[in-house]
Amino acid sequence: MVKLENIIYRYDEKFTLNIKELSLGEAFRTSYIVGASGSGKSTLLKIICGLKTPHKGCVEVDGKSMSDLISTHKLHTLKMIYMSQELGLWSHMSCIEHIRFMLPKSKHATALLWLEKVQLLEKADAKPDALSGGQKQRLALARALCIEPRFLVLDEPFASLDIVLADELQQIISKEQKIHKFQLLQVSHNTLGFYDKNVNIIVMDKGEIVQSATFTQIINNPVGRWSKKWIELLSKKG
Ligand code: ADP
Ligand code: MG
Repeated sequence: MVKLENIIYRYDEKFTLNIKELSLGEAFRTSYIVGASGSGKSTLLKIICGLKTPHKGCVEVDGKSMSDLISTHKLHTLKMIYMSQELGLWSHMSCIEHIRFMLPKSKHATALLWLEKVQLLEKADAKPDALSGGQKQRLALARALCIEPRFLVLDEPFASLDIVLADELQQIISKEQKIHKFQLLQVSHNTLGFYDKNVNIIVMDKGEIVQSATFTQIINNPVGRWSKKWIELLSKKG
């Protein structure tokens, strides 16, 4: 359960993130954040993950205050993973070492299993430099999933990939989510993610949440100019 209350975050006088209230409960295991570029989606995700500290307001995860978790160095206990397009792979480590670093107590065979899940078995000893863009993404995904996160927060991680590959990665995430039941929060405008019309969608505009509803509700009643245009475009695409 993630709860935000009266959040204010300012970069400068030009942009303020202003979130009165946001609750992501168990009822919505998957939430997508959509909205115009510059509307504050990434800033919101970083605040939820404790990567940015709001100037006002509080963030709670499972009843624990984010600022307390940070000050007591317990943020890692949430098992919350944030992944963006900057994958942050370790250039000096091979694929298998990336997984073993995350699972130091695991057997070599367990680490190999994770590489197999993302079809990187034959690249086990390759370093990131020797991987294609898609393979890098898959390695980052395996590294994120292998700790069996409780919260997976994805900031357009697949935006630069072709839609077939992006869909493959999305399928891997869905499969793992069914097994491990983590909560997924993802910035994505992609129709491919929206198989389930009951997922929660949070629409942002100019630093505020203008609508938080199921995909079906948004299709039937989009609030704001951006949402209306977005739904119009999605329905054109089918
Ligand atoms: P989105 O992810 O929806 O595109 P962001 O959260 O990245 O939006 O950014 C929201 C606004 O804050 C934008 O206007 C952006 O230019 C501004 N912004 C983002 N990061 C910084 C920063 N480090 N310093 C100053 N302004 C920033
Ligand atoms: Mg962004």
